[in-house]
Amino acid sequence: MSARKVLVVEDEKDIAELVALHLRDLDCEVTQAGDGHDGMRQAFARNWDLVILDLRLPGPDGLTICRALRRESRYVPILMLTSKSSELDRVLGLELGADDYVTKPFSVSELMARVKAIFRRVESMEKRFPGGSETLSIGPLKIDTNGREVLVNEQPMPLTAREFDLLLHFARHPGRVFSRAQLLDSVWGYGHDGYEHTVNSHINRLRSKIEPDPAQPEVIVTVWGVGYKLEAQPGVHAA
Ligand code: CA
Repeated sequence: MSARKVLVVEDEKDIAELVALHLRDLDCEVTQAGDGHDGMRQAFARNWDLVILDLRLPGPDGLTICRALRRESRYVPILMLTSKSSELDRVLGLELGADDYVTKPFSVSELMARVKAIFRRVESMEKRFPGGSETLSIGPLKIDTNGREVLVNEQPMPLTAREFDLLLHFARHPGRVFSRAQLLDSVWGYGHDGYEHTVNSHINRLRSKIEPDPAQPEVIVTVWGVGYKLEAQPGVHAA
């Protein structure tokens, strides 16, 4: 089994180092992010086996990152580190979909016990639902939701994380029309710039990668005056 990939988002360097050290003892491959911005970026950069999120961070806080991760289709285990034992932190953390939390100051052995419990839970889940990944087929496209890979006519097509998220959002709601504002909220979520031309430019880049003829899109089509939608059966021409 390959090493579990764990992201630790924690601005207190001593704690981050300590946690990373013990995770490596569990044969995990550890990546650290020292603030919320880096944490947010890293959180979406890979398919993590676990994300450990400090609640209070410079930049977007742990809850914001947690919320953003939970909008993803793929389930990522999340363990929150909360700075105080306030009930509010606890309730918020679990309500927003953290799997577990520990309160600072925590003992490393307690934290590692929680980590192992999460790994065990995920493992038993994977046994019950083997091959939990899902492949969505849309015309010439195949989307591997877990591996975040896209094939166009059976050829791998590299997409940026955002392009992938955008495509996946459409693929999960075929035929439904989304306004640019709705796409900003659903796909960009946290910290979008509010500019609808951001959506247009990403759609254009995505089209240049996935459309047989980007000038005449048939997968993600423009609905004039409203926004965009995904054709449920693009390019289905009578033979
Ligand atoms: Ca902190």
